Amino acid sequence: MRTETPVSVKLEDYTPYPFEIDSVSLDFSLELEATRVRTKMSVRRVRPGEFVLDGEGLTLNDISIDGTPLQVSDYKIADSKLTIADVPDTFTLETDVTINPKANTALSGLYVSAGRFCSQCEATGFRRITYWPDRPDVMSRFHVRIDADKATYPILLSNGTPGKAGDLPGGRHFAEWDDPHPKPSYLFALCAGDYDVWRDSFTTMNGDHVDLGVYVDKGQADRAEWAMESLKASMKWDEERFGRAYDLGVFNIVAVRDFNFGAMENKGLNIFNSAYVLASPDSATDADFEAIESIVGHEYFHNWTGNRITCRDWFQLCLKEGLTVFRDQEFSSDLRSRPVQRIKDVMRLRARQFAEDGGPLAHPVRPQAYGSIDNLYTATVYEKGAELIRALTVLIGDDAFNKGMQIYFDEYDGTASTIEDFYSCFEKASGQDLSQFRLWYAQAGTPEVTVVEEWDEAKSELTLTLSQKTPPTPKQDTKKPVPIPLRASLLDGKGGHVEAGGWQDGETVIVLDEAEKTVKVNLAKGSARPLLSINREFSAPVRVRRDLDKAGLLKLAAAETDPFNIWDCFQSLAKTEIFRLLDEPQSPPDDALVSAMADAVRLNESDPAFAALLTVLPDVGELFQDREPADPAGLDSARKRLRKAFAEALAGDITRILEQPSPTPFKPSAEQAGTRALRGAMIGLTGALGTPEAASQLKSHFDSASNMTESLACLRSLIPLPGKARDEAIETFYARWKDNPLVIDKWFAVQAGQGTAEDARRLSEHPDFDMSNPNRVRSVAAAFSMTNLAAFHAPDGKGHEVIADIIQRADKLNPALAARLLTSFEQWKKLEPKARASAKTVLERLQEAGLSKNAMDIVSRALD
Ligand SMILES: [Zn+2]
Repeated sequence: MRTETPVSVKLEDYTPYPFEIDSVSLDFSLELEATRVRTKMSVRRVRPGEFVLDGEGLTLNDISIDGTPLQVSDYKIADSKLTIADVPDTFTLETDVTINPKANTALSGLYVSAGRFCSQCEATGFRRITYWPDRPDVMSRFHVRIDADKATYPILLSNGTPGKAGDLPGGRHFAEWDDPHPKPSYLFALCAGDYDVWRDSFTTMNGDHVDLGVYVDKGQADRAEWAMESLKASMKWDEERFGRAYDLGVFNIVAVRDFNFGAMENKGLNIFNSAYVLASPDSATDADFEAIESIVGHEYFHNWTGNRITCRDWFQLCLKEGLTVFRDQEFSSDLRSRPVQRIKDVMRLRARQFAEDGGPLAHPVRPQAYGSIDNLYTATVYEKGAELIRALTVLIGDDAFNKGMQIYFDEYDGTASTIEDFYSCFEKASGQDLSQFRLWYAQAGTPEVTVVEEWDEAKSELTLTLSQKTPPTPKQDTKKPVPIPLRASLLDGKGGHVEAGGWQDGETVIVLDEAEKTVKVNLAKGSARPLLSINREFSAPVRVRRDLDKAGLLKLAAAETDPFNIWDCFQSLAKTEIFRLLDEPQSPPDDALVSAMADAVRLNESDPAFAALLTVLPDVGELFQDREPADPAGLDSARKRLRKAFAEALAGDITRILEQPSPTPFKPSAEQAGTRALRGAMIGLTGALGTPEAASQLKSHFDSASNMTESLACLRSLIPLPGKARDEAIETFYARWKDNPLVIDKWFAVQAGQGTAEDARRLSEHPDFDMSNPNRVRSVAAAFSMTNLAAFHAPDGKGHEVIADIIQRADKLNPALAARLLTSFEQWKKLEPKARASAKTVLERLQEAGLSKNAMDIVSRALD
């Protein structure tokens, strides 16, 4: 049994590595259970210090310095480190190790998926391949040689550009790869196996030719077409928007079924979870096509923000991730609808990051310490990190931001950098001191901004009193004020803006950089009182508290000109109404509000993607951040009552919209996706009616659906409606798609996401449930525990039990996956007493269960 808290690594302890390794040759002789890795590195001392390499699970066969074999007494291997006491200032180190990729179920390092070799080295997987200073600030030029059985592994890939290749005795062959760009070990990649490939090419703005390839399972090449289109669009966009061209003659993507993450940006050889590569019109939803486009973009953009300029240490993870998420969000906004993209990004932020910020796992965007690096890949680092870049663009303006980015690319290319380095570029570009802004990176928690308005009729003067407060978070009781850039406008209530002194085109940015600030706005004498629109486009990642009642919010929603704020006004209205329904279980939903919500959907039908978002009520996870103690089951049933009334108010529209044919032939375009999004929303609302007629309508729509988006929407809506229609749909769907694992993942997820704890348990015992495949495990465990909170946090504790059982099984194979699933308990302290007691019991049981270091890091922080 192991119950100790993992030792934490601290930012303040950073010291540079004492040696530089200018180049390294890696020679792989691939065998499933005994792969030989021979490593030859040129080492040069640059400062005093010991020569220490990382290594985990390696069998050392030979080690030599400058050709002389070392004796066992010359080095020490302990705690996953190899230390050589006396080394010359310049030398060549050669090691020869054996590893067992087939036994690697953690999917970190070199492993086997579907009989093929693949690798994942971020953050610390490379030490499971060979002895190496496995830290991002040691950058080296990699030369790789791979040999393997030719019939089984006809394709051998690594980073950079291909060199020599040829046949070897015994049916083997080899291939060499050279990467001219120095890189840290976490960007190393190797793939070997038999694939089909979708090929294309791209000519950069510098006129350089790039060969592109997307490697997928045999027989699935045509399902890679969309990923390829997305890749070309990304390459073009980064040239046009940031002036960044690709820098190698080859860019490859390999799709892998067993993968812990979405995708990995290895230099020149991105490795993707197949869920984010493969798509065909019949088997993929619009959300899949959109995710592929965004993730292909994200990984490609890392070539500059992450690869060419990398992180000095893992505390700087947001430097590459927050910035690159910002870049992929901008890419999607430019390709699709900017307001719709913004709303979706904020929905994700509020659901995941605000929840994280409000619980025991809260941490700053740049933490000061961590227990397990794998657990640092959080919504805070990614999503809030991206919001901070966006807030910076609002604070200093687009011109200074773009100038700062070019300074960053010019001055830091080829380096391992820090947040301070990055911000120094924007200080140069803007002439502003950004030290207070950097507090955003050091303080956890979501700031709350309170806005109080006072109108002086006689003077035609509006006084705004703005204040900020960030709630305490673990180990941070008090917070300093941060600069909060709030886009603001004054609305005339007739669809226009009121001109105020100094506000350009009716808009300004108010920077709230103190605990409290007063802003006076003088209008023309005799002006009517304007309506304040604030935090437009969600310019800062804060919660805004305003003294507006229902009538005031409805009036504001009608006057708003910012689509984000229109949507957000209705979110606030729906939230307040759900809380009222929870407190007054006998009272019906407010008719006036429901018809205003329905009118808003109708009014925006010409922008169907936006109209679809107006039908989405805040989900239980978001609602329960505002209710302590939170009763997820009660919130869920109050939410369902409002949703049913909403569906009844739109009944005629639902029929009218669904009677129109779905667009054909299918295209994954933003325009068609928008139309299907609204149709999908209507399917969802049909389910909310909950009647037998609704179930049979959904079933007939399911039977005739011509695309996965609508087919899956019908199935999702049918799940909570027990009966023949539902059971048949579940069966038909399974029978049709049982050979397509990505679609069967969805089949598991819709059931776990809508069902009970018993359903989740039944699904986890299904013959197709596979503990070794992260996508499949998540399709049950994450769908249940992260999207179905009423069932997961049910007071009888059964939801907690089933997830704890899956976590314990997963942890034995894949600690990173288990740790990720454990974060579903992050809000347990907010729960009503029964669920809270059950969560505590389960967490304490897990704490005693001898879990991995990754899992223990989360459990101990959650219980702290
Ligand atoms: Zn990334």
